[in-house]
Amino acid sequence: MTIRPIVIHGNPVLHRPAQPVTQFDAELKTLIEDMYETQEASHGVGLAAPQIGVGLRLFTYSFENEDGVPPVGVVINPLLTLGKISTQDPEPETEDEGCLSFPGYSFPLKRAEWVKVSGWDAEGKPLQFEATGWFARVMQHEADHLDGKLYINRLNKKWGAKAKKVAKREDWTHEGHQWTPGVDPDPFGH
Ligand SMILES: [Zn+2]
Repeated sequence: MTIRPIVIHGNPVLHRPAQPVTQFDAELKTLIEDMYETQEASHGVGLAAPQIGVGLRLFTYSFENEDGVPPVGVVINPLLTLGKISTQDPEPETEDEGCLSFPGYSFPLKRAEWVKVSGWDAEGKPLQFEATGWFARVMQHEADHLDGKLYINRLNKKWGAKAKKVAKREDWTHEGHQWTPGVDPDPFGH
């Protein structure tokens, strides 16, 4: 198993749709193992394959939940059905979201409180579950990555403008930035 570098906003792999997984083979198993290890080392609650530079539709997650779903897992070729998303302003205290590919920052965002997730596990067996609250948020965040979307692309005008400024200031507007969990300082101070 290998901890892989996490690419940062500006890398094209994060900004284009990923390709469906078609081969449930040894190579995929290795990728999943590496994603688990990278996720753990980064203290992340989720990691999508494009974040380690692999344009495939799968993500891992690590999140204790009240939905009866294993706290650590992988979803391959996920399909999400979303509940309603509130049109109210997001709460900076309770709805702050962060991303390993936009390291060290967080911005508030409304998400659906409920999602149904279906997809496949590492063995290629179909899986399906419902997620609520923050677990539902994690699912939406990771699935977005597979569509070439970062959470900062979903922010409202006010917070979106702030995120844009950050990307400019950090020089995250083009390919070339990355960080390695366990080697570089933890951007979220874990
Ligand atoms: Zn992310």
